[in-house]
Amino acid sequence: MLIRTRIAPSPTGFMHIGTLRTALTNYLFSKKRKGRFIIRLEDTDRTRLVPESEQDIIRSLKWARLTWDEGIDFNQEQKIIEKGSHGPYVQSKRLKIYNKYARELLKKDHAYYCFCTKKCLEKMKNEQQKLKQPPRYDKRCANLPQSVIREKLKSKQSFTIRLKIPAQGTTRWQDLVRGPISIENKLIDDQVLMKSDGFPTYHFAVVIDDHLMAITHVLRGEEWLSSTPKHLLLYQAFGWRPPKFGHLPQLLNVNGKKLSKRDGDVAVRDFIKKGYLPHALINFIALLGWNPKTTQEIFSLKELIKQFDLKKINKAGAKFDYNRLNWFNARYIKSLKTKELLKLSQPFIKNLKLPAKKIEKILFIQKERLSRLKDITKDIPFLIEKQISYPKELLAWKNQSNEQIQENLQKARIIISSIDIKNFSLDNIQNKLLKAGGEKRGELLWPLRVALSGQKQSPSPFECAWVLGKKQTLKRIEQAIISLK
Ligand code: GLU
Repeated sequence: MLIRTRIAPSPTGFMHIGTLRTALTNYLFSKKRKGRFIIRLEDTDRTRLVPESEQDIIRSLKWARLTWDEGIDFNQEQKIIEKGSHGPYVQSKRLKIYNKYARELLKKDHAYYCFCTKKCLEKMKNEQQKLKQPPRYDKRCANLPQSVIREKLKSKQSFTIRLKIPAQGTTRWQDLVRGPISIENKLIDDQVLMKSDGFPTYHFAVVIDDHLMAITHVLRGEEWLSSTPKHLLLYQAFGWRPPKFGHLPQLLNVNGKKLSKRDGDVAVRDFIKKGYLPHALINFIALLGWNPKTTQEIFSLKELIKQFDLKKINKAGAKFDYNRLNWFNARYIKSLKTKELLKLSQPFIKNLKLPAKKIEKILFIQKERLSRLKDITKDIPFLIEKQISYPKELLAWKNQSNEQIQENLQKARIIISSIDIKNFSLDNIQNKLLKAGGEKRGELLWPLRVALSGQKQSPSPFECAWVLGKKQTLKRIEQAIISLK
């Protein structure tokens, strides 16, 4: 069987990290089994459309290197294009199809016209609430005589079409993640399939499309679990074979509550903006709620495909720990060549007015300590700005006297001066200073480091000197000595 999975985002906002996780799961599952991965746009809820969100979804998937075989894309002019033989892949272009299938259900008596107004439904809900009953459509339109229906349609009364849920029986399925699930049909509401604006509801369109697009496995977030019985009953009403369903555990914050904006970034674009690397974010989210059952933590996309197994997905919620993500990102940043880092860092350094060589040096030293590209220059303004100021007391290593500090700074000045400008390499600077510092290197290196950075904590004095260059380094040592006189 050819495996076909899909991601079916609604363009109702910027792509959520949970949607990226769902996309990744579908991608890994289909790639592992040499299947196809499809992207379909579910834009039938016209009241919740957010402009630009389609572009954001596609951009995010591309950024994450999750390629798809069929579905929508954007061309150079930012126009939607489609590839694949099961299109259109945008639901608003499929209205005729939904209409046709709604009619088929009406004919088979698996659906009915509902002429209840918003006001009447509101009243029904309030009454049920008063009686402490669950809010549910009371089926009052389910058995209207044909003549009444004809009359109402003729007089152009607004209507919806509802699914006739069987009064008896139980709907069951074997969830690929959660195991056997069952629900009594009498607890399921007569779902609206077609709205009064002529658009289908999510529940209707998703079933028609998954069927017509030959989707074999629906892997989606747990929030859709309660929708699945309705979908299965629709498959049953049509006499179609349903796909297999698997519901992925919710993303939680570190306290075990549903992950929300209050916990930090949740839109993929925010992670991009902060300088997370696609491979790091993918590696991190792949392991959320999934146990590879080895001690290995760093996985390339190829390795993830190889290792992926739905059976390894935990049922319990998946904790989204931003610190762990930072750890992954730091690991990936560290493994980059400086040239690659330079390329990826462009958005974060484009306003820096520094010579290219100096930028490369900054990247070289920051690579070791960075967890997000956005922070490239965060703790090192002293390497970028021409002037620095600091309290001179900071120059003292432990109880060093003023004279001792001056002596050591003079010593540093002589050493730095002695290094030929052509040999002003990090190694050379480090070797010379360490040799001169000997056993008591703190006495030499601390005042030097503060003279160059003006900070209690900073990269090493060797790194600072190397980035600043010989001239600027000597100037700052000079200034420190003067300040002590
Ligand atoms: N359109 C739904 C969403 O926004 C798709 C849910 C599903 O995968 O069935 O996530």
